[in-house]
Amino acid sequence: MALLKLTFSSLIFILTPLLFILLDHLQTLHCSSSASASPSLHHHITKLKGISTNSTTIASVSTDFGRVIKASPAGVLHPLSVTDITNLVRFSYEGPQRFTIAARGCGHSIRGQALAPGGVVVEMRSLMRVGVERIRVCSTEMYVDAGGEQLWIDVLHETLKHGLAPRSWTDYLYLTVGGTLSNAGVSGQAFLHGPQISNVHELDVITGKGEVVTCSENYNSELFFAVLGGLGQFGIITRARIALETAPERVRWVRLIYNDFSAFIRDQEMLILMDQEKKKGFQYIEGSLIMEQGIKSGWRSSFFSGGDMKKIGGLGGEKQQGPIYCLEGSMYYNNVTASKVDQEVELLLQDLSFLPGFSFTHDVSYLHFLDRVHHGELKLRAKGLWDVPHPWLNFFVPKSRIQDINLGVFNAILKNNNSMGPILIYPVNKNKWDERMSAVIPEEEIFYSIGLLRSGLHDLEYLEKQNKEILHFCDQQGIRFKQYLPRYSTQAEWMNHFGSKWDAFVQMKMKYDPRAILSPGQGIFTSSLVDHHPNE
Ligand code: FAD
Repeated sequence: MALLKLTFSSLIFILTPLLFILLDHLQTLHCSSSASASPSLHHHITKLKGISTNSTTIASVSTDFGRVIKASPAGVLHPLSVTDITNLVRFSYEGPQRFTIAARGCGHSIRGQALAPGGVVVEMRSLMRVGVERIRVCSTEMYVDAGGEQLWIDVLHETLKHGLAPRSWTDYLYLTVGGTLSNAGVSGQAFLHGPQISNVHELDVITGKGEVVTCSENYNSELFFAVLGGLGQFGIITRARIALETAPERVRWVRLIYNDFSAFIRDQEMLILMDQEKKKGFQYIEGSLIMEQGIKSGWRSSFFSGGDMKKIGGLGGEKQQGPIYCLEGSMYYNNVTASKVDQEVELLLQDLSFLPGFSFTHDVSYLHFLDRVHHGELKLRAKGLWDVPHPWLNFFVPKSRIQDINLGVFNAILKNNNSMGPILIYPVNKNKWDERMSAVIPEEEIFYSIGLLRSGLHDLEYLEKQNKEILHFCDQQGIRFKQYLPRYSTQAEWMNHFGSKWDAFVQMKMKYDPRAILSPGQGIFTSSLVDHHPNE
């Protein structure tokens, strides 16, 4: 009998997601302002402490940095404690009227991922007001405990007081710990240390059932790995224990110019594969395309002086076929190693094939280097160019197909690109990503992170069309890319995105958020996976 019961429950466990997938094929979520709260839900949620339904507050969380998608929640929670969030989730999970809940970091998402159409948005940053210390450094064990709502810039400031810092970063630090760990957190350090999700020891998570769970590689490990890169689907991160290293003091920051794509990627790949035990290499490696407009504006251009820009600009014109490429590397050092840094950089540059005379160097503090995008942000804000639509497209491409991207995308689809914003391209080592994490990446050992970070000031529709054209080109050419910060509108697309990880993803959802309450803006699970009330 026990066996029969077990088999039956296993069958339900397997069949329910399948049934759910079938149902979901029939209804795709298009996040739009049309999703509004029913009057009874409005009445229901206002019973909860700390919920605001004020129209100004609602409007402030109805779009994101992308400014492409708009959707209003029924209410906004400004939690003063983790318990406030737990109570909210339980109220939805256990109550008769389920509603969706989105944790919102800073809303720096691009396509509505932090929205909760008709549900409740949790303004995670309100936890800051609590007055309790939410960033705690343990210098003996080299980690920091940071609230999920904390900004990486604040984590940096706090850890630097101890001469320490996290190892892996994003380009921009005004993002929250919970927000980037729900995605991956990728920047120029990822080739060496992996993405931010590879540098986490432990998490505190509120699941979609309202349970508070501490998890790590050794305990509750399936939740731990599911949450890392899990797009907010399994729980709300309220604390992350992040690995630290001794912080360097200064950074020798170099940009090298290429007009030959093959030489550019050969050097990038050589640099990320170097054995740094034998010869000192860069600790940060990125790259970008230099297009006419990009050099004049945007948040990465302040590196070059007017004279440098003129010199690089001179490479363009009729003689130059296609874009110019810029390899960006940084060598970290401190007072003890300062005397060697010149020589080490010089030795490294000797192995590279950039255009002679086209290396540009800055020497800055570590803090200045990591916070570089913020300097660009301030300039764009001053010109009214920050709060504009950002139809960004990020994707990972296997190394074996990167030449196809250069030919078909950079040299063809983007040939006449003159929109503002950087186009990034840099390689990453797959062996720094743990397969057990939810984040999905291409199957090859080296893959490229590509970011088209363009602003749609006057040409949003055109850029959106071009993004579609790029994805279509990749599909047509059989390029097995993976979108980063993905947004799909059908379950079939999500299944394709997660590939072999999809079944486990659905099983984890069944286990930790069976009523599909969390992060509805991702558009993955659009209805409850169980059709009965949890207390029945
Ligand atoms: P939000 O946009 O508010 O949320 C993102 C998702 O995570 C939503 O689904 C939300 O519901 C969920 N979420 C938020 N908080 C939590 C939590 N505590 N627990 C569980 N789920 C949560 N990304 C990179 O990887 N590398 C970069 O170099 C990089 N540079 C960027 C530069 C700029 C200027 C901008 C605007 C973004 C950049 N990003 C980069 C993207 C960034 O990682 C995402 O925007 C990410 O979503 C973090 O933003 P956020 O903290 O505002 O999270």
